[in-house]
Amino acid sequence: MDIRGHMPTIAMLWTASLCVLWASSVLGAPVNTERQKLLLISFDGFRWDYDRDVDTPNLDQMARDGVKALYASPPYLTLTSPTHFTLLTGRYIENHGVIHNMWFNTTSGEKKPYYQTQFVNDWWDNGTLPIWITAQKQGLKAGSLHFPGTASSYQGLVAMVQEVEPLLYNYKNETAWRENTDKVMGWFRDQNVDFVSMYFGEPDGTGHKYGPDSNERREMVKQVDRTVGYIRDSAEQHGLNRHLNIIITSDHGMSTIYRNGLVEEITLSKIPGFSFGDLSFHLVDYGPSGMLLPKPGKLEVVYKALKGAHPHLHVYKKEEMPAHLHFAKNDRILPIVLWADPGYVINGYFPVQFNKGEHGFDNQEMDMKVLFRAVGPAFHKNLTVEPFETVNIYPLMCHILGIQPEVNDGHLNATKHMLVTSIPTSGEFISG
Ligand SMILES: [Zn+2]
Repeated sequence: MDIRGHMPTIAMLWTASLCVLWASSVLGAPVNTERQKLLLISFDGFRWDYDRDVDTPNLDQMARDGVKALYASPPYLTLTSPTHFTLLTGRYIENHGVIHNMWFNTTSGEKKPYYQTQFVNDWWDNGTLPIWITAQKQGLKAGSLHFPGTASSYQGLVAMVQEVEPLLYNYKNETAWRENTDKVMGWFRDQNVDFVSMYFGEPDGTGHKYGPDSNERREMVKQVDRTVGYIRDSAEQHGLNRHLNIIITSDHGMSTIYRNGLVEEITLSKIPGFSFGDLSFHLVDYGPSGMLLPKPGKLEVVYKALKGAHPHLHVYKKEEMPAHLHFAKNDRILPIVLWADPGYVINGYFPVQFNKGEHGFDNQEMDMKVLFRAVGPAFHKNLTVEPFETVNIYPLMCHILGIQPEVNDGHLNATKHMLVTSIPTSGEFISG
């Protein structure tokens, strides 16, 4: 594991404190002289409609006190690390390059699972800066707790206050959720941090294991809802309500997998004309998505064998990928991309996947949509807005923090109507 870059360098801290002075002189005298703070929270795998079959009094109160979107659309590929890096960068996955939960090397055949990939620095640090680094370069202080991407450094820099979960972390422990909440509120109050991203690993785990329609999932959503209430109470107790904005969203939804011989499963080895011997490398047995690297001269053979082989298997050459997926223009994406319709997963040699729920499907599927809630001094109250893509959360966050965004694929116009109009932005002050 590569754990470089966990600690900020002295030089960086010096630079950051100088930047605070620089920023406060450049930004001029804003209307509201106190800078707004922002907490971005992700509850992994919280499908947009999980509040419809469970009582969620705290999420309901948050909607009355702030903004609720009908749903938000994550980018494709709907996997945890790629979609979280979109939240942090505002870029589609083909543009930010964190194209999968797993780091892989097509030459050696090596693959690393989700947790180990968190520590592969150059998997993450490949040209796009997450908001923590941009904020710090412009004089703010940023923190992150357990959010995917936190363990890596970017151009040698890391979020100034951070915590990475240990291996084999119990993502379901509600007591730990409360301790982590109080810890983050302490960062805002005692260390005057401006922005924190915070990650909870549920209801994803429960949705995988028991399925999205299970009672276990509904119970976990109640736990999430209690935690939303706790988060808001903790913010108030830490005296943060006047300045702190809270966004709650997620990385992807969850969809029920058909089992028990109800359907013909997708198993590549059973497809006539297809042979693993024609591949140099493959990434399958990972939910409904897959990528293949054919051996030299074998691309057409592999493609023709798979295309149309199963009515619920989609097979595309990388350069022919549907444009709406934004999943083609990156060297890390392999020449053949596969995905299955909801209900199905892609197996390699034989079925090895037994989850009752999965994600990784086309982001147009309603089961992949996520929740979006926001509350705080920047946001209107009791406002429901139309759906939008989660790439647009990044420019919204930069606007609230008053920082210049990096190049990104989002548009402030997609989310600006959620905001009360008086927020000062650095852009307005610099140009005006
Ligand atoms: Zn998951």
